[in-house]
Amino acid sequence: MERPHNFSAGPCILPLEVFEKASQSVIDLDNSGLSILEISHRSTAFVGIIEKARELALEHLNLQGKGYKALFLQGGASLQFLMTAYNLLEKKAGYLDTGTWSSNAIKEANNFGETEVLASSKSSNYNYIPKDFSIPEGLDYLHYTSNNTIYGTQMKTFPKKANTPLVCDMSSDIFSRQLDYSQFDLIYAGAQKNMGPAGATLVVVKEDILGKVSRAIPSMMDYQLMIKRESMFNTPPVFSVYVSMLNLEWLSRNGGVPSIEKKNQAKADLIYSEIDRNPLFEGFTALEDRSMMNATFSLKEKQLGPKFDELWKASHINGLSGHRSVGGYRASMYNALTLDSVKVLVDVMKHFEKTA
Ligand code: PLP
Repeated sequence: MERPHNFSAGPCILPLEVFEKASQSVIDLDNSGLSILEISHRSTAFVGIIEKARELALEHLNLQGKGYKALFLQGGASLQFLMTAYNLLEKKAGYLDTGTWSSNAIKEANNFGETEVLASSKSSNYNYIPKDFSIPEGLDYLHYTSNNTIYGTQMKTFPKKANTPLVCDMSSDIFSRQLDYSQFDLIYAGAQKNMGPAGATLVVVKEDILGKVSRAIPSMMDYQLMIKRESMFNTPPVFSVYVSMLNLEWLSRNGGVPSIEKKNQAKADLIYSEIDRNPLFEGFTALEDRSMMNATFSLKEKQLGPKFDELWKASHINGLSGHRSVGGYRASMYNALTLDSVKVLVDVMKHFEKTA
């Protein structure tokens, strides 16, 4: 059966070879005769898997030997909205409000202390990244969302202040581009875009920012305890961790982040050049803030929608409809989506221009 060109925003867009190996492991993990789902999470085999996953995560972010620990936790990025605040917020934290996920993070942090929204693009439905803001002295940390999955904006630079820890939600663009990841003190990401199946959440944290708040932290929320127990304080989401490891190995075999960034850039250049060229379409976001992962656009004449929808669906394209808070279309182009799939979409757009 031909696989559709999957432009869906998630969850879990992975290369076919990773799905194949993962499905085999459900029956028989590496010729052990046992399923990945039934081996003990304390077995040598699984401990090896989670250690490898942690090591690869740090390696791909170029953070090995720099004082960071990688954790595989549960609860999704949404739990990290409060876990970061629980562990780091004593008095006041600064947030940039660039979309639904940022505003959810702000809402959760407000349970633990004061937040200051340094700038927000809410009044223009989050179609740009605010750049005109200053960072006050004395914040416990500064929080950014690197890629705004729903709106299709992506931060290219990350203003910071000396001595203020930088926290970043990278759920929808982790492992997709080269950055100086050491500028961040804590990175978190739900697995389910560029890493693996939903269920695991990656947290990469610089150990020396922890242990500074005065409140007592419940065990399941305590980064220091999770580090001490090597992400195994309780039963980890074994399948999600295993498939994340397979996918991080796939990334290594394919040239790592530098190589995937080039491919992601080529995909983004292709779709955005068609959005700009084709008189029937218009992009949603400010040009300089366009995301390499999620391209949002719409038809200038909304009544042409049903005809365009018919065309892309007939071309084995899946998941192109925009999020309800933006409308239009969203082409999500995570690491596993190929340039050929983007070419198919662009050909559909060109064909539509001729026949509409
Ligand atoms: N942050 C971003 C940028 C996201 O895209 C999402 C989900 O798509 C979330 C947070 C929420 O993640 P989760 O569903 O893992 O809680």
